[in-house]
Amino acid sequence: MSSTEQIPTEVLELARSARRVTVLTGAGMSAESGVPTFRDAQTGLWERFDPTELATPEAWEDDPAQCWAWYAWRASLVRGAEPHPGHVALAQWQARPEVNLRISTQNVDDLHERAGAAVLAHVHGDLFALRCARCGTPADVDYPPVTEPVAQLDPPVFEQCGG
Ligand SMILES: [Zn+2]
Repeated sequence: MSSTEQIPTEVLELARSARRVTVLTGAGMSAESGVPTFRDAQTGLWERFDPTELATPEAWEDDPAQCWAWYAWRASLVRGAEPHPGHVALAQWQARPEVNLRISTQNVDDLHERAGAAVLAHVHGDLFALRCARCGTPADVDYPPVTEPVAQLDPPVFEQCGG
């Protein structure tokens, strides 16, 4: 919708008077920013892979370099995207002192956060909250910059445990 004129008045009034709001967002929210949906990202090099099989602990154990390459590619797609006015509107709504607005998202990207919002839960995980695969400790590492998909990238070694 491009204008509030298309939103029924009752809905607008309800939203304006609401003091406790829960927002659930999914792939459409990120797609509006140009982030490909989980399946739409499977083009070129990655089109013969099933994303639901790449995003598993088993896939990581089978071939960490393949998983790391795939996640690095996804991270690069997310970093190339910017929050859109919907992300900004939610952040501004959340910032109103009289409103308790909580955002939960299925999206693994950080577009809500980059718009200035706090996210209660990334229910499918957070692409940028990395942990050691061996001991589970949050790891302060980042993906290598990639401009083209590559099939294999060696993941970093976590110094504390060698994992
Ligand atoms: Zn570890």
